[in-house]
Amino acid sequence: MLSLPESRLLIDGDWVPTATGETLPVEDPATCETFALIAAAGPDEVDRAVRAAEAAADPWARTSPAERGAVLRRWAAAIAEHSEELAATEARDVGKPLGDARRNIWIAHDMLVYFAGMADKVTGATLPSRLEESFGFTLAEPHGVCALITAWNVPALLMMAEAAPALAAGNTLVVKPSECAPLVVLALARLGTESGLPPGVLNVVTGLGPAAGQPLVSHPGVRHVSFVGSTATGRAIVRGAAERLVPVKLELGGKSPNVVFPDADLDSALPAIAASIVENAGQNCNAGSRLLVHRSVADEVTERLATIFADVKIGHWDDDLDMGPVANAAQRAKVEGHIAGAREAGARIVTGGSRPEGERFAAGHFVQPTLIDRVDPSMAVVREEVFGPVLTVQRFDDTPEAVNLVNDTGFGLQVGVWTRDLSRALRVVREVRSGQVSVNEASNVGVIGLPFNVTKDSGFNAGGGYTAMREYTSEKAVSIRI
Ligand code: NDP
Repeated sequence: MLSLPESRLLIDGDWVPTATGETLPVEDPATCETFALIAAAGPDEVDRAVRAAEAAADPWARTSPAERGAVLRRWAAAIAEHSEELAATEARDVGKPLGDARRNIWIAHDMLVYFAGMADKVTGATLPSRLEESFGFTLAEPHGVCALITAWNVPALLMMAEAAPALAAGNTLVVKPSECAPLVVLALARLGTESGLPPGVLNVVTGLGPAAGQPLVSHPGVRHVSFVGSTATGRAIVRGAAERLVPVKLELGGKSPNVVFPDADLDSALPAIAASIVENAGQNCNAGSRLLVHRSVADEVTERLATIFADVKIGHWDDDLDMGPVANAAQRAKVEGHIAGAREAGARIVTGGSRPEGERFAAGHFVQPTLIDRVDPSMAVVREEVFGPVLTVQRFDDTPEAVNLVNDTGFGLQVGVWTRDLSRALRVVREVRSGQVSVNEASNVGVIGLPFNVTKDSGFNAGGGYTAMREYTSEKAVSIRI
């Protein structure tokens, strides 16, 4: 793991303690052992961080775009050099297998490289004039201080998806990572400052949501808020930001389906569908948590998925198997509550449904991958985000029914469509209400420049991926009378 000053915040280029010296424990979810302490920031520390970011905002915005891009590329090189230590940090913090964390660190690296290349490509537009003596154009300008509040499930990737475009566009940043998995964010920030990010450009305040996140959202110096987390907290963030009318980007929960038509290539579909709910123990916003399957192949698909689930190898982060524990006790209680609720309501637990047995699993927050058939669309396990390795099965008879089932959710994040028929796939792509759709794959994270779009209760944004500069700049309209 990358060494970090213990219980310190990164403010204005320095590692500083909180005024009270208060700390929070960081636990390994596989053992429940505390292996690090972080500083518990409050409103005073948040204020210091925002003021440092404000002081750094103009000089950073005026730094030549080529130089900003060069700093970000140096940062990416440092991430590549330390990728194994960063992966170990994220893996232990979240409890995920080392190989999964390694993949996430490299995605974060690739995002940084991608957005570093955008620093000198931020453009406005020239517009046609109604009058011969008028000339009009737009300037895309950074907001100033941006706040970023993130979830714990893929912390490096969530940070970089926002920090990289925000900094490339010339903004400065205050990041509040989840107290549940903050270490890799601090480690990335350490590498950023060592790579030449000037003091105050990137600040990290660790601490609890109400104590550190809420004052950050309502700080008068913050000009843009980006939030990744649950739909309930997202609503609170919007209410806080509404007082000051700052733009907000929200990436929230999901209840994403994989839709399997009878002509799908099941040999490639089923391992990918299983992986999309087993990866990170189902704790991904775009986890494929609903299986919608054509009745003619439903029994075969369910049986084969049950075999794959039963073969999933569970372990600690450094066992580097298929799946680790969920993040904490509250998360496991939530997952188990959903399984118990489904069982009581008459659903059939096809496989899983309890905790894995054995000494190795005694202390941690482990739960088996669970496949649930015979569910009713009104059940909580079908409607609510479980955020655990739990997959429900629903059957359909034709494409309109499949589309109706896809859309029968408050969320709008990801849909996987499995078919060899391109016309059918495109029909589903057009008719579903979702920010993202993948055909014959379970998610689109292989394409760095694709926006991570969300809709309905999954959130909203003005731009991401190749359009991220729209989110992280505001446009000034200029007219000149010639
Ligand atoms: P939470 O909403 O509980 O927390 C997210 C972040 O918000 C944490 O840093 C938390 O701090 C902070 N927070 C909590 N309360 C407040 C508040 N009142 N004001 C400001 N900040 C606050 O989400 P989880 O961390 O449990 O993450 C899981 C959720 O994230 C799932 O719903 C998942 O779908 C979603 N997610 C969405 C993604 C997307 O791109 N759409 C990607 C990844 C996850 P702390 O926890 O430290 O107290």
